[in-house]
Amino acid sequence: MAHRLGTSASDIVAAVDYLRSGGVVGVPTETVYGLAASAFDIDAISEIYRLKNRPANNPLILHIHHPSQIERLADTIPETLPQIVDQFWPGPLTVVLKARPDVPAIVRGGGDTVGIRIPNHPTFLQLLASINEPLAAPSANRSNHVSPTTAAHVESDFPTESFPILDAGPTTTGLESTVLSLVGPPTVLRLGSTSITALREILPDVTIDLPDQQIESPGTSKRHYAPKTPFHIWSDQKITNEDGVLLFGGPPPEQAAHVWDLGDDPTQAGKKLYATLREMDQTQLRVLYVVLPNEKKLMQDDWLAIMDRLRRATQSK
Ligand code: AMP
Ligand code: MG
Repeated sequence: MAHRLGTSASDIVAAVDYLRSGGVVGVPTETVYGLAASAFDIDAISEIYRLKNRPANNPLILHIHHPSQIERLADTIPETLPQIVDQFWPGPLTVVLKARPDVPAIVRGGGDTVGIRIPNHPTFLQLLASINEPLAAPSANRSNHVSPTTAAHVESDFPTESFPILDAGPTTTGLESTVLSLVGPPTVLRLGSTSITALREILPDVTIDLPDQQIESPGTSKRHYAPKTPFHIWSDQKITNEDGVLLFGGPPPEQAAHVWDLGDDPTQAGKKLYATLREMDQTQLRVLYVVLPNEKKLMQDDWLAIMDRLRRATQSK
């Protein structure tokens, strides 16, 4: 099993040593826990792909602690970048830029771009400042499974692995970063914790174009962020007392005996979504259903990321 470190100065030193010796470390971020390795250590990066069983064409986000580190990773700095950095970093916004050729291809998923962000988490920032080099850190879950928002979630996804985890308690935003490409016209590639409305204030023409990574990777499923128990959108199916139901403040279906209500505030619901899916999974019910928020809410920007995760988590394959 992975072993837990705390967040003290000596824990950070231990994590830096481990990373410098080529290891992988579980790290807290404000979004979800990550599995970190030095961006330029190809063996350590390969280990991340192996641990997660992640398709080789799915690139990793690089984390930095200061904007001056962008130059080491990106070839071209778009005009809009300084304003974006000022407004959104540190925070849950990943910016995709044209990569410098010396950024290892494995980190780029074989492409010619690189995703970068400064996370807003004191422990991770201390780690990044101490090691003073970019760390690649995808979410610390097995590919396609629910993302981890506590150190215990990380341990449960990797029960037989022995890497250390910096345990800083539950994460704060709960959903992943928004991924914004500035290679060409500004385009959101993944919905996440930074809202489209906030991005539009600086990039009025930003569009959303979510490439379905999973469709592009042969042999992998579209299902992602998913519990192991069958999980469906509720549309009037009969509920038995062996079924679990996830609600967003609306009324439960008739006969529902096992109900989890995340409420109708999207920020609060986003924070708890993954931990709740994991908890529902552990109760060993037969089928899980989600009653979607009503249509008026679905049109609202702040529900987009949650709806995206639920759509992917309920895909059949
Ligand atoms: P994860 O770290 O597991 O939350 O996943 C990272 C997400 O960022 C994935 O959806 C990646 O496809 C996306 N991403 C990372 N780097 C890039 C990049 N260079 N271009 C496009 N998307 C990226
Ligand atoms: Mg992930």
